[in-house]
Amino acid sequence: MVGKYRKKSIKDLAVQRARILYSLAISEVEKGEYERARRYIDVALRLIEKANARKPIFLRRGVCKNCHTPLIPGLTCRVRLRGNRKHIIVTKTCLLCGWVRRIPCRRKAEK
Ligand SMILES: [Zn+2]
Repeated sequence: MVGKYRKKSIKDLAVQRARILYSLAISEVEKGEYERARRYIDVALRLIEKANARKPIFLRRGVCKNCHTPLIPGLTCRVRLRGNRKHIIVTKTCLLCGWVRRIPCRRKAEK
């Protein structure tokens, strides 16, 4: 099945599938099935790795690096904003393992 696609398409396909798995993982978290959600994320991460694709933003930003739980504000993570005049620092704390991620952003939107 995979053989039909050229290399670039395999990567696109992997990202597409990973996105589906990610949304499945989120619905599992909403049901309280954290273990199953983590398994979906694991599969998605392996898919990306196997396809040698760049990790899509939803897997880089939306998943706890430590326990692979999808991070949903108010449910599995706590989001705090800090910053000064130039930068905003978004702090995401995983409520399941306590892992903290800081994402610095410039105040001026670049895109
Ligand atoms: Zn975690």
